[in-house]
Amino acid sequence: MTARDPVLIPIGEKVQGGERLTRDDALALFQSNDLLTIGRLADLANRRNNGDRVSFAANQHINPTNVCVLRNTCVFCSFARMPREAGAYTRSLDEVFAEAEAARDNPTREFHIVGGLHPTVRLSYYLDLFRGLAARHPGVHIKALTAVEVAHLARLERMSVRDVLVAMQQAGVTSLPGGGAEVFSPAARATIADKKLSGEEWLGVHREAHRLGIPSNCTMLYGHVETLADRVDHLLALRALQDETRGFLTYIPLAYHPDHNELGEALGRTGTATTGFDDLKNIAVGRLVLDNIPHVKTHWPMVTPFISQVALTFGCDDLEGTVVFERVYHEAGAATPMWLSYDQIVSLIRGAGKEPVERDSLYRTVRTFEDWTPTDPGRKPGVPGVRPEGPEGPTFEISHRPQARARGQRTLPVLQAIESAE
Ligand code: SF4
Repeated sequence: MTARDPVLIPIGEKVQGGERLTRDDALALFQSNDLLTIGRLADLANRRNNGDRVSFAANQHINPTNVCVLRNTCVFCSFARMPREAGAYTRSLDEVFAEAEAARDNPTREFHIVGGLHPTVRLSYYLDLFRGLAARHPGVHIKALTAVEVAHLARLERMSVRDVLVAMQQAGVTSLPGGGAEVFSPAARATIADKKLSGEEWLGVHREAHRLGIPSNCTMLYGHVETLADRVDHLLALRALQDETRGFLTYIPLAYHPDHNELGEALGRTGTATTGFDDLKNIAVGRLVLDNIPHVKTHWPMVTPFISQVALTFGCDDLEGTVVFERVYHEAGAATPMWLSYDQIVSLIRGAGKEPVERDSLYRTVRTFEDWTPTDPGRKPGVPGVRPEGPEGPTFEISHRPQARARGQRTLPVLQAIESAE
């Protein structure tokens, strides 16, 4: 085992021996700048389980409402609106069904449904939504509602989290997305998402889902005010729950985007993004620490398809799918495409020397691509594929907030801390 950073040598020996990494090991990985060694180790850990396979889902993101009761306190979020704020929307069921219909030409196998915490939209709306989509698109998996939304509906309905999850499951939901975790650190959470459910509560919703046989994903939002120790403790909390339930399918590190939100303005980071260096390190360290979670996904709308392609040799075996229309991160300034075609996803994976595998929400193989050739309509022999037109119409438009802040001027706790240190 060789490494430019000698601190990584004993950690590398543990990885080679299949030994679990400690908190100190994880911290050392985040502190090290020897990215190539970290990536090499993560690649080893990944290939041990997944070989050269890289999976993706042909999916469609649907966001039924952007109205959210936490719009004022999740200061990192650019998606949410107050009920009467410019750009606020709540789709009728028919509008959501039409949105799904508009993408019927895509080979969709998964609806990824997340949105705001609407003060008055009840559980029955979501159950009708799931049933309606399941009836219209049999065979398409429904991955729906973050733990935050589930807990919100439980409060609104005065029901237990378990009963809400049972109702969702009976209406056709097959898995939960992993959003809303942010970072579990109470200090960081108090700054960026003060009124959101706690880390323990987030884990509690997923524990309940796993007990009901509903698998889920897990995430960590990085690149804002969290410390490296916060990142490590977050990963260890996910690993501990996975030891208990085995219900997480994949881990997805999510890069913070600072445009059109209060936190980005307060930090003076508007127009910037996380670095490719940190994006790759988060993928690789996640793979190394989360030894019991089968998959690690790279989210190309956040980190660009270019970084995602490189991530496939930094411990990552799963790529965000076709998406159709990505709203949440593009409202926060992501400059990536709104969607990628099926062909582009397959080509991107193949371009990294990997074996593409289309999967369903539960990571079962749908198809492999040994005999695949790109099928863009109208493609001429020898001419690279042209990205086909995306869906059109008012549903598929981004309108940024006119101002990041919903309320009057104030000083965020993070700035108070910076100012008092100066
Ligand atoms: S992050 Fe989620 S809960 Fe927070 S304001 Fe945005 S949509 Fe609402």
